[in-house]
Amino acid sequence: MQFTPYALINFIVTLVALWLGYLIWSRRPGIGVRAHVLLSFGLMLWAFGSGIELLVIDLNAKLLTTHMTYAGITLSTSAWFVFVLQYTGYGKYVTRRLILFLLIEPLLVQVLILTNPLHALFWESIALEAVDGLTVARYGYGSAFWIHAVYAYGLLLISLILLVRSLIRSSPLYRGQVTYLLLSSLTPWIANFLYVSRLSPLPDFVDLTPPSFLIVVATAAWNLYRYRLMDIIPVARDTIVEGMTDSIIVIDRSDRIVDINPAALRLLNVPAGTALGRPAAEIITGQEHVVEQFRNVDEVDSEIETEIGGKRRNFNLRIIPLRNRQQELTARIVVLHDITGLKQTNEQLKIASERAEESTRLKSQFLATMSHELRTPLNAIIGYTELSLMGMVGNLNDTQKQYQERVLANSKHLLGLINDILDLSRIEAGRFELLIQPFNVADWVRDIVEQHAVLASEKGIGFASELDPSLPEQVLGDARHLRQIVVNLISNGIKFTKEGTVSVTVRREPPHADGEYWSIQVRDTGIGIPASQRETIFTEFYQVDSSLTREFGGTGLGLTIVHRLIMTMGGTIRVESTEGAGSTFTVTLPLVPVKDQAPAPVSAHLT
Ligand code: ADP
Repeated sequence: MQFTPYALINFIVTLVALWLGYLIWSRRPGIGVRAHVLLSFGLMLWAFGSGIELLVIDLNAKLLTTHMTYAGITLSTSAWFVFVLQYTGYGKYVTRRLILFLLIEPLLVQVLILTNPLHALFWESIALEAVDGLTVARYGYGSAFWIHAVYAYGLLLISLILLVRSLIRSSPLYRGQVTYLLLSSLTPWIANFLYVSRLSPLPDFVDLTPPSFLIVVATAAWNLYRYRLMDIIPVARDTIVEGMTDSIIVIDRSDRIVDINPAALRLLNVPAGTALGRPAAEIITGQEHVVEQFRNVDEVDSEIETEIGGKRRNFNLRIIPLRNRQQELTARIVVLHDITGLKQTNEQLKIASERAEESTRLKSQFLATMSHELRTPLNAIIGYTELSLMGMVGNLNDTQKQYQERVLANSKHLLGLINDILDLSRIEAGRFELLIQPFNVADWVRDIVEQHAVLASEKGIGFASELDPSLPEQVLGDARHLRQIVVNLISNGIKFTKEGTVSVTVRREPPHADGEYWSIQVRDTGIGIPASQRETIFTEFYQVDSSLTREFGGTGLGLTIVHRLIMTMGGTIRVESTEGAGSTFTVTLPLVPVKDQAPAPVSAHLT
């Protein structure tokens, strides 16, 4: 064993390579990561082998270390070649076949070194020599060695050419990283030249190639680490940015274009190659208001409208500021996404929906007018039929009377239907007005109850009512329409109940944060409503079971009108029901009590 500080250099290189390899390994997966880890591993073997060789003095021991050194050298050169292929966008050539091919030479070299005493092809002579008090091995290189050297330098040369091409092609934004890589890859050439030419100031047995290769490994690691290869190495940029249909422009701190993709060139009608390095405002002419936006230092996500080639175009403009670690703005990425088509479709949709709304309104208006006009002759029919039934046009015999009664009943049914349609279409056409004025709740309830108690008893069912005494005597509201709501609910209750009771409960609701409310509850013990239909019964013409229509009559309009009326009054309606056991409809309305004196009637026009 002997000691020399030159061995130490190699051990330091070994450790640094180990660390770099680990650092990049932690970044996987990513383009070039595996190649880089292999590169670091190769350099580790190379430097460690060279270091040990300097420490041992026995020739056999020295020869043993060359296995490690050459495994490292051959591995690093192959790994470097693979790394450069991937880095410069030729990753698709890195196939299993290529890897196997690249492994041939390292294996061959190992075999040649092992069998060298038999053929002396790798080293013609090996001798120990004392230099500066150290025992060093002198190798006389054989033909196989020179073939290996040519092969290794061939790989390095191809890598160098690939890097130069990439440098020429890449946009300024990426030129920095490519340049560093290119320059660093020159250092092994220089070190090797010094070693071979013996121009190195160090003793001639010291090979500086491992430390110089460390520079390459470190620069590659820096590129991978700093630029996160996957994100913005030239390859990733080419495939993502170049192929994108959105326009992408990268602008530096002084508003100069440093990168622009083909979509942006097409959009701005700028010939390729003229834009890079020039101020954005100079290249993008006639779009001052757009370029003005590029100056934004903060992130922007807005819509812009502009004219390009005489056509109005809409874009979604996104500006993403890029900052360095000191938080200084280094560049801005401008992304223009064409939304002209989307915008036009939206506008067309808007027009179409406005038209549809208008036509529905006109239809409802027509219905309102028509049903109003229909009522007049119908009222005449009803009036005259009643007169004739009263015997005003002479005595009727039984058959005549029966016929006239049928006419009267059907006309009244028709009138009810027309009234429903008129109400609904008036609400829909926006021609519906609430007449808000004070009314006496007790009188209002009594009136309704009196009318329906008779109807219920005729059908053989009970009728009950309850009025909460805490309700104010007078409240503000549209008594006529409120009556219409309750009458509708009670009529349904009676209609769908065969036995039992229909009851009406009017009460004051417990105080609520957003105001006072009162409620009217109509409960029946009838057929009930299936759960799935409890929402739909409020839509027009809807009936739970159309066979019921035949049994009970009705149009499916009643609850729709009730619902709309309640909504215009600012109230709500909900239904609870058990099939076969009965239903409960609860209407909740804002309670506006009338204080002291009754105010003048208020008319609210609601749509
Ligand atoms: P209709 O004129 O048919 O009564 P509505 O809009 O008033 O129209 O009611 C719609 C449907 O809801 C009815 O056909 C019926 O199927 C159901 N319905 C309404 N009220 C009750 C109730 N109290 N009990 C059972 N079913 C009801």
